[in-house]
Amino acid sequence: MTETMTFTWLCNECHLPVGDDRGYLAVDFEDIRKQRPSQWLAYHDRCREEEDSYWIPVEEVRDPRGAGRWTEHLSRKRRQLMAVAGFDARPHEVG
Ligand SMILES: [Zn+2]
Repeated sequence: MTETMTFTWLCNECHLPVGDDRGYLAVDFEDIRKQRPSQWLAYHDRCREEEDSYWIPVEEVRDPRGAGRWTEHLSRKRRQLMAVAGFDARPHEVG
């Protein structure tokens, strides 16, 4: 058993896990524009039409470091965006 923690993202449409290369995490541009708290939501490519959202490949955010890095990236992008919180993920140990 290792200390490594990985996130299993569940698709917001079908509620099945989203594997690497199979989906993305999206933040609604509307939330960013209105500077309201937002959250990453996971989707399979097949489950959602392209919409007005900022997205990153799901495999980029598989651990707390990746999550922190991308949250920071997005915060820098929109300085007033205070936090991208509410990770809908289930941490579990790998080992
Ligand atoms: Zn899905």
